[in-house]
Amino acid sequence: GNTAVTVIGLGEMGRALADALITSGHPTTVWNRSAGKADDLVARGASRAATVEDAVLASPLTVVCLLDYDVTDAILRPAADALRGRTLVNLTNGTPAQAREAESWAVGHGAAYLDGGIMAIPSTVATSQAFVLYSGQKAHFDAHKETLQALGAAKYVGADAGIAALYDLALLSAMNVMFDGFFHAVAMATSHTEGNAAGFTELLVPWLTNMTQVMPAFAADVDSDAEPVLAQGLDVLLAGVRNMAQASRDAGVRADYFERSAAAMEQQLAEGITAFTAPEAVQRLRTLN
Ligand code: NDP
Repeated sequence: GNTAVTVIGLGEMGRALADALITSGHPTTVWNRSAGKADDLVARGASRAATVEDAVLASPLTVVCLLDYDVTDAILRPAADALRGRTLVNLTNGTPAQAREAESWAVGHGAAYLDGGIMAIPSTVATSQAFVLYSGQKAHFDAHKETLQALGAAKYVGADAGIAALYDLALLSAMNVMFDGFFHAVAMATSHTEGNAAGFTELLVPWLTNMTQVMPAFAADVDSDAEPVLAQGLDVLLAGVRNMAQASRDAGVRADYFERSAAAMEQQLAEGITAFTAPEAVQRLRTLN
């Protein structure tokens, strides 16, 4: 299809989104606070709108990708009336609560609203690696799915406008902790005179890749009411975590994460929990709140 699309926000990500839409043949209108960021897109065929209102009026579908929801609100508020009868897709990173609030605001102005989370970096937008999570009313997603596929695989995750943001931030949290783990491991490995990060990483990538393959089985245990299939002795795990903490300290690397982890396991053992299982690990995080 060749639905016209407006893109508001031409930072690193917004430019990649607009570029993907132009490439896939959608008449594309763009607006950005710093207008010069539209120059390359205009040279490739995009129309530059003079105001946010003009930008919104140019297309049935407006995609927004800005710094945060405060900026999004400040930019869209003066153009609210133009949104009536149109669809607003907000791909700005935010919390579930912000997404629900934005939906209420948009619906209050007669607009259809979808919230989204981009699981890509600018250079992978529109490649087979990219996927984008969407939440909000399914009918709005269905109406624009084909157009949205130009940005990356479009995945609908639920009618609550907040769920795309929840999943997006959960995915980012897993990524963050993984990278923290990587840096910790590299600090340990390179504390040795013979250690180097590149050589060590050749071991770490296949190791972590293998470990990700256990996640679906963990997930099945979390979803099930039956006895968990995967269980490991907590005492054995605790011994390993204490060794990680000690070897880190010996290597001059901070061990606070592993010290906290060991303390939590000691407490579980004291409570009579003897096995590590995925449901227990998830429950543990919940009760820390
Ligand atoms: P940039 O910093 O490159 O762009 C920020 C955008 O917000 C620009 O359009 C900028 O306008 C605008 N902006 C910032 N402050 C204001 C303001 N006070 N008034 C008006 N406009 C303002 O960020 P990205 O493009 O990288 O990120 C945009 C969104 O995309 C974020 O929510 C981010 O989390 C998300 N995202 C980014 C990814 C990435 O790898 N970059 C990956 C996945 C999601 P101006 O050009 O005038 O400064």
